[in-house]
Amino acid sequence: MIKSFLPPEYCARCRYCCVFSDADLWEVPNSIATLNQRGDGLYACQYLSEIGCDLPRDNRPLDCRYYPFRVMKYDGGLVIAVAAECKYIAEHNTDRVPDDIAENLIAATKNNLLSINDFKPNYKILRKIESI
Ligand code: SF4
Ligand code: SF4
Repeated sequence: MIKSFLPPEYCARCRYCCVFSDADLWEVPNSIATLNQRGDGLYACQYLSEIGCDLPRDNRPLDCRYYPFRVMKYDGGLVIAVAAECKYIAEHNTDRVPDDIAENLIAATKNNLLSINDFKPNYKILRKIESI
């Protein structure tokens, strides 16, 4: 979750994006090797503890550092999209990505092209990207 956009205390209470259902296993960052199966049928990231993510912020996967924003493939091109299921996004009806976050996300994604997935309907397109 992106600290400059989301209040850390909000995310500390939520942690929704560190737990995955069967339908959203595609969102598990590539560098996460293990998920812990929970009794409710969901899977928790191996780094999720009672107090939140165990990894230092700078060591977290790109997907986590920029969530709920991500670069996705759409209609033969690329877009920046936002996860509509993010609790903060849903509550605040966010429909834009700040320019500085967009620039940093694009720069980081250039070095991690495997993080680019096909667009999914549980995301909202915010802007098209000319090139990466
Ligand atoms: S789903 Fe959104 S609000 Fe919840 S922890 Fe993730 S980034 Fe924060
Ligand atoms: S690495 Fe940390 S922020 Fe990313 S999914 Fe796992 S617990 Fe959440």
